[in-house]
Amino acid sequence: MIKDKLQRPLHDLRISVTDKCNFRCQYCMPAEIFGPDFKFLNKNEILSFEEIERVAGIFSELGVKKLRITGGEPLMRKDVAKLIGRLLQIKGIEDIGLTTNGVLLVKYAQDLYNAGLRRLNISLDALNNDIFQKMNGRGVKSEIVLKGIEAALKTGFSIKVNMVVQKGVNDTEIIPMAEHFRKMGVTLRFIEFMDVGNSNGWNWDQVVSKKDIFEMLSKHFTLEPVDPDYFGEVAKRYKYKDSEAEIGFITSVSESFCSTCTRARISADGKFYTCLFAGKGHDLRSLLRNCDDDKQVHTQIADIWQNRKDRYSDERVEGATTSLNKNKIEMSYIGG
Ligand code: SAM
Ligand code: SF4
Ligand code: SF4
Repeated sequence: MIKDKLQRPLHDLRISVTDKCNFRCQYCMPAEIFGPDFKFLNKNEILSFEEIERVAGIFSELGVKKLRITGGEPLMRKDVAKLIGRLLQIKGIEDIGLTTNGVLLVKYAQDLYNAGLRRLNISLDALNNDIFQKMNGRGVKSEIVLKGIEAALKTGFSIKVNMVVQKGVNDTEIIPMAEHFRKMGVTLRFIEFMDVGNSNGWNWDQVVSKKDIFEMLSKHFTLEPVDPDYFGEVAKRYKYKDSEAEIGFITSVSESFCSTCTRARISADGKFYTCLFAGKGHDLRSLLRNCDDDKQVHTQIADIWQNRKDRYSDERVEGATTSLNKNKIEMSYIGG
């Protein structure tokens, strides 16, 4: 097992399989910036399935046990189910999850399940269509995502729904969403709006903190804390007293968790990022394409991890603004 400079092991790898998306969420890929002229990656710039499989295999030798497939919208990458089937064969990989906006789930849930995938995180920011259609920037109704959720549940998937909360945008949806998914027995996780990338116009005033959300929920529900399942579990979890359903909070802004961050990330074009807020990635694609020797790739990845010192969110909480002004990669490029 390798550890970074802050003694954090490498456990998880998030792989972005495309930078394209069928939504234009204002907080992630605002339509004004990601418009018709935006230059997305070309096919030859994106890692092939063989390259992804190879690099995931090397990461697993270095201690990675969990993979997450993300994007952009990962279900827009052709044959992603086949890729998942292949990744599940890698020795040492115990678990794969996929994060999706849910729009294409009715079409692909069964293929994904047949490939061996069992866990899905589905993003849905509102039930109310005036709010949701504006937020997703493509006028897609919440019913489409809800149908995707239903299809996935019917297929047999274990599901978590993720809701990014933005003040004045969808905070009125906190209670309706909690009520809806409590009744369905599905875990809902509230994600604090983060200052990822440079294009979503983030500021502190738009963040609804875990504390605020918890206070709102407490007026309607009785919640009991649930212990973390494993070291580095990101969500702070609670259970409803009268139901088995859980809620969770991803508190990247108000209560950062860098000290237990065991995640590596690879962008669709094969850059290795040691932090969601990193300004620069390490080019694994050239390495993979120019070097047949897995040992060399292994050594370089190990080196990068062993020199890792990132703790961006902790620094934000501490008010160390110098590190906060740098150029950051966009969320749609790295996949969250
Ligand atoms: N397209 C897929 C989806 O939306 O689920 C996968 C990629 S998306 C970048 C992964 C997750 O990041 C989504 O749950 C999304 O809501 C979240 N996200 C994107 N931008 C964010 C931001 N600025 N703050 C917090 N979460 C964000
Ligand atoms: Fe697309 Fe997901 Fe970003 Fe929304 S959050 S624009 S669905 S990548
Ligand atoms: Fe990990 Fe970087 Fe997020 Fe901290 S800010 S938890 S180091 S990804």
